[in-house]
Parts: sequence; structure tokens; C-alpha cells
Amino acid sequence: MSKKEFMEAVANEVKPCRKCELWETRRNAVPGEGSLDASILFVGEAPGYWEDVKGRPFVGAAGKLLDTLLAEINLSRSMVYITNVVKCRPPENRAPLPVEVETCTPYLNRQIKIIQPEIIVTLGRHATSYILSKAGLKEAVGITKLRGKVYSVKLFGLSVSVLPTFHPAAVLHNPKYKDGLERDFQLLKSVTDKSREWH
Ligand code: URA
Ligand code: SF4
Repeated sequence: MSKKEFMEAVANEVKPCRKCELWETRRNAVPGEGSLDASILFVGEAPGYWEDVKGRPFVGAAGKLLDTLLAEINLSRSMVYITNVVKCRPPENRAPLPVEVETCTPYLNRQIKIIQPEIIVTLGRHATSYILSKAGLKEAVGITKLRGKVYSVKLFGLSVSVLPTFHPAAVLHNPKYKDGLERDFQLLKSVTDKSREWH
């Protein structure tokens, strides 16, 4: 099977999935979208209101900010892949429960293995703690301390860089994080520019 067929198989399982209780309140599950050959994978937390309505990741206010940040470093959505830790919207946008993360992340794990990204940008605490703990790094500090650095890890046998940053929605609520988020995107740019020189 091709990458495209493997990813379609994931999406076709996610859309009707009822493995955790989030299916009961969702309108649309949100598998993710973008280039299957992307070197950069963005992992958010969970769909919000508009993502649930449209079945697409990051299409609300946080998504607008993400688009702007991407454009500032000469990237567009079609050049990267964007998904979330859990694929259905939690009621009232609450944080996903540990059992929901555990039940849903086999989908994310498959997506990572299909795309084989060079760098995973984790947006916010939930994505960061999931990816870093999966890579065997026990997180002892919060997102504010972890963010803005590149961690070279092994994930499913792949060598990947993980760059944790703030969640764009957190920045919309708390503008004081905006500078940090912008700096982290500049760091992302310098990491991807460097890897382009090597190839
Ligand atoms: N916030 C997220 O974490 N993911 C989305 O897809 C949208 C908002
Ligand atoms: Fe299935 Fe994930 Fe949706 Fe739960 S959140 S129903 S595990 S797709």
C-alpha cells in the first residue's frame, strides 16, 4: 500500500470511530490533513468548535493564527501535516482525559509512522507530554520550561526532532505568550533551513 492508502485507511477508521466516549458528542471526527511527504508534523490537542463542524484541523481562530505563523516562515498548510492528539472534540473544549488520549493515540502513532516527519512541533502541554513521553523522555517540567528547544529523540525507531511550543489558542487567551510562539517558529525555520542544506 502507498502512503496515501495507509493514511486513507486511518481516516476511514477515525471518521466512524466509537472507541471512546467522545464520539457521543462530536459532530465530525477530525483525522488531520496536509502533505504526506511533509518533513514537519504539527500536533495539536483536540478539535474545537469549528474543527468539529468542518471535520478539519485548525480552522477556527487558533487555526488563523497558525496560518499566519506558517506564512511568516514561508510555509503553507499544504507543505506540512496537521493533526491532533485526540480526533474528536471534547465537550465544552475541556482537556482530553487520559483514557481518551490512550484510546485515540494509536491513530496518531500510525500517522507518524506513515509520514515519518523530521520534526514534530507539539502545540501545547497535551501534545508535548504525549510525544515526549512516547519518546521515553519523562517530563518533569511544564510547557513553559520545555518550549523553544529542539529535542532529538527516537520515536517508533525513527530519529526525530521535537519542538514543543505554546498552543496558539493559549496565545489568543494570553497575548504575553505571543513572542515566545513567534520565536519558536523562527527556530523551526532555522532547523528546517539547515536540514534543507544537508539534503
Ligand atoms: N485546537 C487544537 O488543538 N486543535 C485544533 O484542531 C483546533 C484547535
Ligand atoms: Fe475514536 Fe479518538 Fe474519536 Fe475517541 S476521540 S471516538 S478514540 S477517534
